[in-house]
Amino acid sequence: MARTPRTTSGSMPLSELLISKESRAMASFAVRDLDEMLRFPPRRYVTPAPLRSLREVQDGEEVSAIVTVGSIRDRSMRSRRGHLLEVEVSDGSDTLELVFFLSHAGQAEWHRARMGEGGTILVRGTAHRDPRRDRFQIAHPEYEPVDDTPAARAQALRPRPVYPLKKNIAQATMRSATATGLENAQLLRRPVPPEVLDARGLPALEDAVRLLHDPADLDEARRGRDVLAFEEAFVLQAIFAERRARDERTPAPALRADGPLQGEFDARLPFALTAGQITVGEEIAERIAREHPTSVLLQGDVGSGKTVVALRAMLRAVDSGHQAVLLAPTEVLAEQHHRTITALLGDLAGAGRLDGHADATRVRLLTGSQRTADRRETLLDVTSGAAGIVIGTHALLTETVEFAALGLVVIDEQHRFGVDHRRRLRAKGPEGRSPHVVVMTATPIPRTAALATVGDLDVLSLRESPGHRRGVTSFAVHESFPAWERRMWERAGEEIREGRQVFVVCPRIDEDEEVPEGEEPARGVLATAERLARRPELGGARIGVLHGRMSAEEKQETMARVLDGRLDVLVATTVIEVGVDVPNASVMIVLDAELFGVSQLHQLRGRVGRGEHPGLAFLDTRAVPGSEASRRLETIAGATDGFELAEKDLAHRGAGDLVGEEQSGLQRTLRHLDLRRDAELVEQAREDAFALLEQDPELTDHPALAAAIADRLRHADPDVERS
Ligand code: ADP
Ligand code: MG
Repeated sequence: MARTPRTTSGSMPLSELLISKESRAMASFAVRDLDEMLRFPPRRYVTPAPLRSLREVQDGEEVSAIVTVGSIRDRSMRSRRGHLLEVEVSDGSDTLELVFFLSHAGQAEWHRARMGEGGTILVRGTAHRDPRRDRFQIAHPEYEPVDDTPAARAQALRPRPVYPLKKNIAQATMRSATATGLENAQLLRRPVPPEVLDARGLPALEDAVRLLHDPADLDEARRGRDVLAFEEAFVLQAIFAERRARDERTPAPALRADGPLQGEFDARLPFALTAGQITVGEEIAERIAREHPTSVLLQGDVGSGKTVVALRAMLRAVDSGHQAVLLAPTEVLAEQHHRTITALLGDLAGAGRLDGHADATRVRLLTGSQRTADRRETLLDVTSGAAGIVIGTHALLTETVEFAALGLVVIDEQHRFGVDHRRRLRAKGPEGRSPHVVVMTATPIPRTAALATVGDLDVLSLRESPGHRRGVTSFAVHESFPAWERRMWERAGEEIREGRQVFVVCPRIDEDEEVPEGEEPARGVLATAERLARRPELGGARIGVLHGRMSAEEKQETMARVLDGRLDVLVATTVIEVGVDVPNASVMIVLDAELFGVSQLHQLRGRVGRGEHPGLAFLDTRAVPGSEASRRLETIAGATDGFELAEKDLAHRGAGDLVGEEQSGLQRTLRHLDLRRDAELVEQAREDAFALLEQDPELTDHPALAAAIADRLRHADPDVERS
């Protein structure tokens, strides 16, 4: 048979291989070629009932039997349109009737031909006694022609794959399509070199797909799945290895200078660095001194002091004659970074001013809502190189922003940025050189998840927090216990009377959404602020609001009032989720907490307990006590640091929420790999993929792997994952 046009990925199109009903069924799952079909996982397996003789059949029982076809009667039904096919079968011990209700005569013909009078079939279905005739019937049985041999009998006992179905697609269609595919398994693309699988003691790909779709037992099915899970992990790791290899070929400014700004800055720090800050600082310094761009993920809990670590690296860049950029996900946060960094640097940020230090540089802020005049001035400093440190939002990514000599990019809160952002900043280096990148996150990712999602980054962790931090105690509060809720507001009131401040976070701005009868809408900032003004526990408190519909100036003004103590309570949406630093805030109340993600809640509670006062976080919920949502909140309340939470959360529900939107593109393409169970496979696949890329960085000898990588990237969110 002539096997011609392949799809662009080099795989056999299903339209060439299958009858059209089958290829249409597969297409409804976006499965279009042989490679995709044989990797399409069964949802589960059914183990057939043991074969038995017809004499033993009981009413309502699941039956599997090998039988001989007797008479086949085909008649049109009187009462309704259609055909009735009645087939008498027997196994020598007894007889049974198979009944099919069919919509047209052609189908009856098809069954008649497939069974053949006198033929042998394996039949499965639920037997019911037909009371009028005192015999057993199976309506619409599954059946297939077989030989009555020991081999066929063994075959009949094998587990059968159950595929997901859509409207008008029969299980039998999915199975027959896959069976045809298995006959052509030798045509599969092999992204993992056979010797790699072999060295890991894994079956070859064409055996693996057979084990997956037609296993002798469930253990075989698992062995087949393991190979496909390994393959997924391998392709993913090859993507990361390829990016690393590309970095190895790209020049970067080597940021090596040791002074003077760094020394001056350290000498003036109002506190001693923690051991972790020093170690991580050295690790970063070592990496940015290299001649190829480095990519580091710096993870550390909220308040662990990442900003200082980043700032010291940025000063190293400036000392080395280059610029550094700090990119924040929101304007509020960019402005805050600008304030703290300018304050921390003092006269070291005063270049060009009379009070500036002799070695001073300039720190500039660049945001989208800046006035044109400010922006123009900033851009001049960026372009001339006068600004050693530039802080800003996405506005920094536009083409018009040109740096004189960008050496280091620091991205705060990685889960809001994607590979695409990193790439655009990379392109802003001087003379074809790429700046180094440090990504910071307060949501630690467990190791396996990190390897599988940000495997192209070196992960560094700050595990201790500076001593003065008093930490946060968290509680889940169920509104179904009014006494708890009252106590929560009383505690808030007590803190306010002590001169502390309170954040209240709501999932929405307004409360006008439509909800089903009996449910209540999620809490909105505006209505909540009004209700709080009437709560006796908060009597006299000055309450402000912050949300995304306010202008940049209004937001700024409100934050300023919080910072200098003119507001006691700030009711806000998650605009305050990331990085807002109000040392005097001691209480965080999240309303409808079950509507927030794990990492969001962890970030939110990190907003309090940042100064000398211990923090309190209340995760307030209307979820039913004991429900899944309520248990999740209790887990979060019980886990104190982000590392612990990350491990617990992963055990709980998988990595999705922790890695954020940007990394989920590649994750979505995983069908077999389970990050909770497959830690070892991921580690092995990483080792093997990196070794292969070391040998063959351009993948010239591994076209199947190159094609699989291209496919995977295409299926992941296209904006996110072109590297
Ligand atoms: P993160 O960004 O990791 O959440 P920050 O860098 O914002 O944490 O630090 C939180 C607070 O702790 C800041 O006010 C910072 O100045 C302070 N800080 C950082 N390092 C230390 C330290 N070694 N000792 C005391 N305070 C520190
Ligand atoms: Mg921070």
